[in-house]
Amino acid sequence: MRFETKAIHAGLELGNPTKAIIPPISPSTIFEIDEEGRDESDLHYTRLGNPNRLQFEHLISALEGGRTAAAFSSGIAAAKAILQALDPGDHIIIPEDVYAGNRKMVKNIMARWGLESSFINMTSLEAIEAHIQPNTKLIWIETPSNPLMRITDIRAVAELAGKHNLIMVADNTWPTPVNQLPLELGVDLVLHSTSKYFGGHSDILGGAVVAKEEDEFFERIRLIQRMGGAVPSPQDCWMLSRSTRTLAYRMRGHNEHAAQVADYLVNHGKVADVYYPGLESHRGHEIAKKQMKGYGGMISFIVNGDQKESIEIVGRSKLIKRATSLGGVESTWEHRQSSEGEGSVTPENLIRISVGLEHPDDIIEDLEKALN
Ligand SMILES: *Cc1c(COP(=O)(O)O)cnc(C)c1O
Repeated sequence: MRFETKAIHAGLELGNPTKAIIPPISPSTIFEIDEEGRDESDLHYTRLGNPNRLQFEHLISALEGGRTAAAFSSGIAAAKAILQALDPGDHIIIPEDVYAGNRKMVKNIMARWGLESSFINMTSLEAIEAHIQPNTKLIWIETPSNPLMRITDIRAVAELAGKHNLIMVADNTWPTPVNQLPLELGVDLVLHSTSKYFGGHSDILGGAVVAKEEDEFFERIRLIQRMGGAVPSPQDCWMLSRSTRTLAYRMRGHNEHAAQVADYLVNHGKVADVYYPGLESHRGHEIAKKQMKGYGGMISFIVNGDQKESIEIVGRSKLIKRATSLGGVESTWEHRQSSEGEGSVTPENLIRISVGLEHPDDIIEDLEKALN
């Protein structure tokens, strides 16, 4: 089956004994145990498993081409579960411009737990190899990166990870499996904040880890999901499955509109530089072209001006709302350094825009007013 078809049909039959085309929400926290008793993988208690969570996990796993998946109550909870599955004293290599929340989580929570980390520029294979230590266990990539839109060659890094026997994780939140399939390129685990394009309407918080194999490392992640307790509600899982049915078509719109907005920005006098992997002028374009089917809905650009001017521009839009996060049907933008706060490596005059599904001419007209 093709992607669009899987998105609409995968997972519907799981834990759905009725003939309902759309499975009901199962709010019950407990399930009757049959005479033989049941083990933990069965439906038993909702923290351990729930029909709606099962349906969503099956769906996201099918779309990423994985074997299995674990859903969490947020993207960051999913990210933390991967790291907690390591042992104290282990070392990871992670992008210096990784999603800021994950940077803070690694530095302020996992470091105290005993995790060692090197934050580096992930566009250089030599730099990655040079940072591999005897206790290195995992390489983390995020491509395109946030908000600098750096591109990492997924296959090349996966080969390097394989050579050194390291677990490789790709945060695929921005491209989504519509635009990029890291597991096909040799990655072991895909991370998602489903709060973004999977949810797609800025009204669900969630995360997921999708695994290529149901191996011992993934079993640890599953244990952390169940015994760590950061699980999503049945209602949120149901909503996520509902949104995911239209993911392919929403991403097509985001890809198309962002390409138009990027072209508009490139030619604007108030804009000094545009970071969008779909632009031929983008430094990572050739690699992006190899590993992405579309370039996504996120654009960062550098204002021909200072921090104050950049903040003023973001304040002048009417249609494009001033807000953080991304992936909704509505366009939003922000002065990114202000949101990232302390430790941010983002330029002071960078604006990040999440291009939505409004008519692109309306988005561009609004930009025109805000920039002039
Ligand atoms: C938002 C985001 C996260 C964190 O997810 P939450 O759902 O906010 O916890 C992780 N990675 C990326 C790339 C994100 O954009």
